[in-house]
Amino acid sequence: TRLIAERSEKFAAMGRMGAAVAHEIRTPLTSLKLFLESVQDLARLSAEDQEDFRIAMEQIQRMEGTINRFLDFARPREPVFSEIDMADLVASVVMMIRPLANRQECALHVHTEENLPPVTGDRPLLSETLINLIVNALEATPDHGTVTVSATTDHFEKEGVRTPCVRIDVKDTGHGIAEDRVNTIFEPFFTTKASGTGLGLPLVLHTVESHGGSLRITSKLKEGTTFSVFLPLNFSEPFA
Ligand code: ADP
Ligand code: MG
Repeated sequence: TRLIAERSEKFAAMGRMGAAVAHEIRTPLTSLKLFLESVQDLARLSAEDQEDFRIAMEQIQRMEGTINRFLDFARPREPVFSEIDMADLVASVVMMIRPLANRQECALHVHTEENLPPVTGDRPLLSETLINLIVNALEATPDHGTVTVSATTDHFEKEGVRTPCVRIDVKDTGHGIAEDRVNTIFEPFFTTKASGTGLGLPLVLHTVESHGGSLRITSKLKEGTTFSVFLPLNFSEPFA
């Protein structure tokens, strides 16, 4: 399966509508949480009731988490551009994620080309993009698998225009993505995980596009998947 992901207006419209709903839910949810907290202090609860309380609070926190992540997704901030050394960024993200890889005894390899030219980008947004892709790769990969992150110089072509860029590949030896799923995985809230949010990839795509870049997926069922992020070296157009 090969796909070059592109933005869809449908997602943008869903995002705007969802943001309005999320706001409406967040406010009463916060009062509910505060109310429960104060009741918990006042009422002398049996151990069993304490446990029910704890579960209720946990569920509220989960809802809050979902709503906050959704709002981040629906109203992503504008990138603030500066010169980014992707080799350095990859190294710091991998260092952060390594414990997660170790836990499932998954090998996490890094290859960065020497003297990689800087890209024009937003460091926190690009870090978040890489984290999303690497965590997805680990989650798709069975124990003792391998995830490889590489950074090289490359280019992409669009409408006959050749754009020099830094290319970041996140390659896994996981379960792969079925051909007919490759578009679906970019839909907000689409997840195949018990506790997934389905908001990682739509955000990844948004960030890559706001950097004037391109996202490509190569996947084979039961063999693995590679997400390739192409980031232009000299991006100067403001994101429309
Ligand atoms: P989440 O990780 O919360 O499920 P994402 O938007 O990050 O949400 O991913 C959406 C879905 O895309 C995942 O649930 C999974 O089914 C699929 N997916 C993402 N990355 C990979 C990968 N590297 N290999 C296989 N499937 C993947
Ligand atoms: Mg994810």
